[in-house]
Amino acid sequence: MSTPPTTDPTAIPCWTVGDVTVHRIDEVLLPPATGPWLLPDATPDVVAGQDWLRPHFADDEGVLHIDSHSFAFTVGGLRTLVDTGIGNGKERANPAWHNLNTDYLQRLTAAGFPPDSVDLVILTHLHADHVGWNTHEVDGDWVPTFPNARYITSRVEREFWAGYDMEEAREQMFRDSVIPVEEAGLLDLVDVPADGVEVVAGLRLIPTPGHTPGHIALELTSRAETALITGDCIHHPVQLAHPTIGACVDIEPEQSEASRRRLLGSLASTDTLVLGTHFAPPTAGRVVTHEGAYRLSPVPADSH
Ligand SMILES: [Zn+2]
Repeated sequence: MSTPPTTDPTAIPCWTVGDVTVHRIDEVLLPPATGPWLLPDATPDVVAGQDWLRPHFADDEGVLHIDSHSFAFTVGGLRTLVDTGIGNGKERANPAWHNLNTDYLQRLTAAGFPPDSVDLVILTHLHADHVGWNTHEVDGDWVPTFPNARYITSRVEREFWAGYDMEEAREQMFRDSVIPVEEAGLLDLVDVPADGVEVVAGLRLIPTPGHTPGHIALELTSRAETALITGDCIHHPVQLAHPTIGACVDIEPEQSEASRRRLLGSLASTDTLVLGTHFAPPTAGRVVTHEGAYRLSPVPADSH
């Protein structure tokens, strides 16, 4: 297979948090229709009212830029991947997610994380755009992409979906991306108390329920520096200026807003590097207070 220029390891964006290098593993920029569907209250007028969103997070017409990517880093000696994107060749109702063919695994490998080397996969929640690369197709079967990893998610999250009356498309997603990992004995369910839980020295799961009942954000700490991976508690930086804006797919919208407000309040005016799970490049920044709410002060990536 020829190597496209995007797999050049010097093009893998990364940030430094103490001794840890966090790599962004790009999957795909989602199409312009994603914003109005996902965040219907983020109208062009609302977006236009926040100059700081342009040009990185929105265009001049108020179209939101929304990305799919993962984060990869080594912490406490464990090679860790946070969320696994949409995946290749998956049959999905959403046309933007259907039957993708991206070079995600080549990028992950170029960043220094070949699939066999991954020790830990953390799933912020069990939605189709966060579990896709859990598996890949081998001879017509969906098998774990990271056979030497422990995959972890919150117990509340897995148990919620176990009791959920799923439509066929969601059942399909569980069949091809979650159940094969469980059947291989690789999925660990973690109890996440209200004040969070450390799963590896330096890596903490933070309960941020609402988008889904067992949703978690992640806090990474090294040498007194801290980063926070949002998951889908915050989909887009416009929600910093308007924390009331929720996602159409939030299971409990009021709880989601409460989690978002609590998280933003804890991040405001700190040095914590916020890494947005769906934030378009530059993807990262610090939360600062702005006009009675917040904005993101971007922190551009380096390349390794
Ligand atoms: Zn998502």
